[in-house]
Amino acid sequence: MNLSYTPATICAVATAPGRGGVGVIRVSGKDLLPFAQAISGGKSPKPRYATYTDFFDAHGQAIDNGLLLYFPGPNSFTGEDVLELQGHGGPVVMKMLLARCVELGARLAEPGEFTKRAFLNDKLDLAQAESVADLIDASSETAAKSALKSLKGAFSKEIHVLVDELITLRMLVEATLDFPEEEIDFLKQADALGKLMRLRDRLVQVQATAKQGAILREGMHVVLVGQPNVGKSSLMNALAGDDIAIVTDIAGTTRDTVREEIVIDGVPVHIIDTAGLRDTDDVVEKIGIERTWQAVERADLALLLVDSREGLTAEVQAILERLPPALPRVQVFNKVDLSGEAAGLSVENGHPLVRLSARTHQGVDVLKAKLLEMIGYSGADEGVFLARQRHLDAIARAAEHLELAHADWEQVEIFAEELRMAQNALSEITGEFSADDLLGVIFSRFCIGK
Ligand code: GDP
Ligand code: ZN
Repeated sequence: MNLSYTPATICAVATAPGRGGVGVIRVSGKDLLPFAQAISGGKSPKPRYATYTDFFDAHGQAIDNGLLLYFPGPNSFTGEDVLELQGHGGPVVMKMLLARCVELGARLAEPGEFTKRAFLNDKLDLAQAESVADLIDASSETAAKSALKSLKGAFSKEIHVLVDELITLRMLVEATLDFPEEEIDFLKQADALGKLMRLRDRLVQVQATAKQGAILREGMHVVLVGQPNVGKSSLMNALAGDDIAIVTDIAGTTRDTVREEIVIDGVPVHIIDTAGLRDTDDVVEKIGIERTWQAVERADLALLLVDSREGLTAEVQAILERLPPALPRVQVFNKVDLSGEAAGLSVENGHPLVRLSARTHQGVDVLKAKLLEMIGYSGADEGVFLARQRHLDAIARAAEHLELAHADWEQVEIFAEELRMAQNALSEITGEFSADDLLGVIFSRFCIGK
């Protein structure tokens, strides 16, 4: 797909901000050889080789030295000429090098602009472009591996197979429109319905895989309710196990930690700690509490943690009553090593109840399995590719149109139209059928330099 745009030369620091051994500036544009020569003092870098050089300012003074890489288009990430200046990774050096690039005619890149150009120049489709951001943001190894799979095109390939089958079926259906007398017989003979069913089955499979990928990407949002000392931190650590645990530990407005992130079997789990939800007159804290309640509204489930020697206390009960009634919940009775109860799963008042010990880890696996089951996660097998809500929505719409096509297949015009709509919905995933504003939204969420 080629939209019209003016390919200005763009530049950005591609490495993370701050100090590092090496800092990389990426430049993309048309015909960058003169640019490369100007910044390296007249050297002509050999394509795709590292050239050791000084980087010079306008007066011929060296700013830094390092490696210059030159990838002539179209065999580059963006499809344009790309330069990489690998200098020393200090903020001042990077700033001076970037200023020199601007002086040489480049402008600072917008977030995601390199990847957007790769998309516009057909180097990546939209699902692949999104997986670039997902790979960078991946919060677990499993998510990173699945993102890479999407980046390499596994997801797009599945979609293309579906679209190709849809096109074949559409050709058949549209051909019959020219023969209004015999169209139904014709469709029956050609087994149009059988083809439609197989298509639907395949779509359902892709939908299931994409759903697993979306869970891996978005993770699960858990509200943690529990009094001090019932073992919340201990349980979080026990759940996280060997997966490099607490990823972030965002401090609350005053004393309490409001949100934590752990990873369970590769699935990121965002924890909203209701310890921060108490009555207060402090204005700043009130805002924090308001935000926490908003997060509670969007949560996937609530985890109620109590000391099994005490059971549900009045305080826990009070928070429970304020939770959205439809929010699924799991009760956890901790410290069974002290109460002497047996670890394991039961059901109480219609909610699952897990007895466990965060200290001895008895029963922790039971809870893990229950949590993953409740959000519909069945494990990342080899086939899982990372997917986004946007993809799930598009797949769901395609499935709906296939249903309508099926329901009304004897009205051949409607049959044909529904198939067309199903194809459009699927093509949104790879970007072959996407509005410009959708592209804007997707790429603006990237970080700069990507
Ligand atoms: P939090 O305040 O809810 O985060 O509770 P902590 O995780 O800090 O635990 C409070 C205390 O209870 C600590 O001394 C823990 O070692 C202890 N504790 C937590 N879980 C268990 C458990 O399952 N068995 C026993 N015996 N002690 C536990
Ligand atoms: Zn989160």
